[in-house]
Amino acid sequence: MRLAGKTAIITGAARGLGAAFAKGFGKEGANVVVADIRDGAATVAAVEQAGGKSFYVATDVRKQEQCDAMAKAAADRFGGIDILVNNAGIIVTLKPSMEVTTEEWLDVMATNALGPFQCIKAVFPYMKDKGGKIINISSGTILEGVPGMPHYISSKGAVWALTRGMAREFGDYKINVNAIGPGFTHSEGGNEFDTKKTFPPMPMDEIQMPVRCIKEPVYPEDLVGTAIFLASNDSRLITGQYILHDAGMLHY
Ligand code: NAD
Repeated sequence: MRLAGKTAIITGAARGLGAAFAKGFGKEGANVVVADIRDGAATVAAVEQAGGKSFYVATDVRKQEQCDAMAKAAADRFGGIDILVNNAGIIVTLKPSMEVTTEEWLDVMATNALGPFQCIKAVFPYMKDKGGKIINISSGTILEGVPGMPHYISSKGAVWALTRGMAREFGDYKINVNAIGPGFTHSEGGNEFDTKKTFPPMPMDEIQMPVRCIKEPVYPEDLVGTAIFLASNDSRLITGQYILHDAGMLHY
């Protein structure tokens, strides 16, 4: 088991990619803290069934004090924090960019860009003396040039830049900071986005499949191995990297 005895906080783990990461980490022997604004009981049960220990902490990553409380709860229960997966995020509905309001922009930024930074601040005191792994979930959209979501792509570009800056700054603490850039993935949030999308009026798989090297749909479970690799000692000397996970749609 590659994460035996390690403690991981996974934000946005009540459903979607986060829930898949949580279950996969549990299977590898990790203690998993499920942090979400949505109830995470189902994920906790799935982690325990997979063999890991787990509990849920109601957390809004937009609030620094809640991120701090999340980190403290994890350390109090499991004796430390080894891994943070900054996964919580809002996937927006597409609309003409000139219709995006300042409030919508700030709302997405608060969750997708500020949230990961606040969680990093919260876990840093617990990682600085013994090292750790931080995995930020960005998005392939930042390389693709997707219209109709200027706030979303900017927030995910910020996550990429944050990954590089923090990796450089945290190397001396033996804290690895890496990012995963998923392409369209059939999570609950991904499917909701796909259903509401009006331009172009066709499912994401139909748009992306022809330009993927491997012409298959992508599911949350497909990303779990990448996250485990980045959370484990196998990636000891890999940091500041961005791993695209989109069946080969984009090359970077
Ligand atoms: P999802 O909507 O299924 O899950 C997101 C989770 O984040 C939910 O459980 C939600 O309650 C939680 N969350 C939202 N705001 C929060 C907040 N302020 N504090 C704490 N938790 C919060 O979406 P998903 O597809 O699983 O997305 C996971 C991550 O992957 C997101 O960062 C998303 O932007 C990114 N991503 C997804 C896709 C995709 O196609 N699904 C593609 C690229 C990137």
